[in-house]
Amino acid sequence: MTKRDVIYIDGQWTPSQGSGCIDVVDPATGQTIGSVPAGTAADVDAAASAARAAFPGWAATPVERRIELLRAVAAGLETRREEVLDTIVAEVGTPRAAAQITQFGITVHTFNDAADQIGALLVDEELGNSVIRREPVGVVGAIAPWNFPLYQIALKVAPALAAGCTVVVKPSEVAGLSPYLLTEIIDAAGFPPGVFNLVSGSGEEVGEAIAGHSDIDMVSFTGSDRAGRRVAEVAAATVKRTALELGGKSAVIILEDADLASAVPASVAHCFANGGQVCAALTRMIVPRSILPQVEALAVEAAEGFTAGDPNAAGTNLGPVISEAQRDRVFGLIEEGIESGAKLLVGGPRPPEGRDSGYFVAPTVFSDVSPTARIAQEEVFGPVLAIIPVEDEAEAVAVANGTRYGLNGAVWAGEAEHATGIAAQLDASTVYINGGKFNPSAPFGGTKGSGYGRERGRFGVEEFLRLKAYQY
Ligand code: NAD
Repeated sequence: MTKRDVIYIDGQWTPSQGSGCIDVVDPATGQTIGSVPAGTAADVDAAASAARAAFPGWAATPVERRIELLRAVAAGLETRREEVLDTIVAEVGTPRAAAQITQFGITVHTFNDAADQIGALLVDEELGNSVIRREPVGVVGAIAPWNFPLYQIALKVAPALAAGCTVVVKPSEVAGLSPYLLTEIIDAAGFPPGVFNLVSGSGEEVGEAIAGHSDIDMVSFTGSDRAGRRVAEVAAATVKRTALELGGKSAVIILEDADLASAVPASVAHCFANGGQVCAALTRMIVPRSILPQVEALAVEAAEGFTAGDPNAAGTNLGPVISEAQRDRVFGLIEEGIESGAKLLVGGPRPPEGRDSGYFVAPTVFSDVSPTARIAQEEVFGPVLAIIPVEDEAEAVAVANGTRYGLNGAVWAGEAEHATGIAAQLDASTVYINGGKFNPSAPFGGTKGSGYGRERGRFGVEEFLRLKAYQY
């Protein structure tokens, strides 16, 4: 059991002003593995005033020093690699082999990337009689989800600190232990007091206090659309800058002349990564009806290749979903999928064979799914794929764009140029062409109901800068 009973404000570990705590549960076993304080609005007040007081000094700190400290965080993470991985695997259930890259490696990259990018962004631009300069936005509130508990914090904190902003971080209360390790690493790196502050707690109490706080200039939120809408509403009262990274129902379009033997398994693997709990997961597979039988056979084969089990065991590539409530919700959505008339190819509303403890869901593939069915419209956040047949490319694009979301996408076709033409028509900020690789420095974010703002690389740092024109 790891019981955390303090929060981090103004460079000090300090008790919360509240007395409650929130349990953290290992979803692979259902056992409680620790707890974090249920922080309060008063804690946010203290953190925001520390961040406000630290802001002028941090903004004026030479960028070389900020870069040095960001690199110290990346190095500190490397030093504590196994401990960080153990904690994330225990609180999220991500299979360890995948977590090395998708949870840990990418977090280290994000701190180094922000350090790499900031210098070029601070170069003044001349425009006629003006000098245009980018300056830090101010105090940033960062509210993060549980599915990538450190990476999602890093995506906000690293660029914000690089830009010269100070931060108040609210990690997810669901996976609240690993953020404490990051905080210890930041503390050891030697940032000035008040530059980084951590207040654990619930969204309703701590999250809303951050969104509404008059000392906080910007709130960067990642999470569900329900909570994101609330954050934007609360933030509006103080006219804050907001960045919202919300949910998705992303589609892969696979055309007749695509390399099906590569496209289908790669897309199934994308859908089931992190137990299907990825905002950008390709959860809809849109294919011409003419190739439906081949696609179905390949998808079943790929789904049957998933081994659910102990996330730390070699060979496990499917972990649990995050909680009992989430497992039951996923089972309910699968049942609704069956009732909607979709064809259940594999899986169903049950755990995989032999996985009755913990919160596992059998890898599930539906075919002949109506584009308007709930499993084709709503984020399931579990290992559930919906194959949707269409008659032609125009219908494929219309179906792909036919949800309230617009986050990620993929197109597979015989020729990359053809795929790119289709990608250009998709409501998404990222589109993978014929199995293109993930690029952790390319901009990522929402369109439509998936939110607004961009994270990662140079574009992620720009979010935390504001333009000022000096007129001469
Ligand atoms: P969530 O909305 O329940 O929680 C996210 C964070 O918001 C948590 O820290 C939570 O405590 C806080 N929160 C909840 N209610 C709040 C409120 N009223 N005011 C302020 N803060 C509040 O989401 P989750 O279950 O942690 O994460 C899963 C969701 O996150 C999915 O919808 C997923 O698609 C999305 N997500 C999006 C991205 C992206 O980059 N677009 C990345 C990862 C996850």
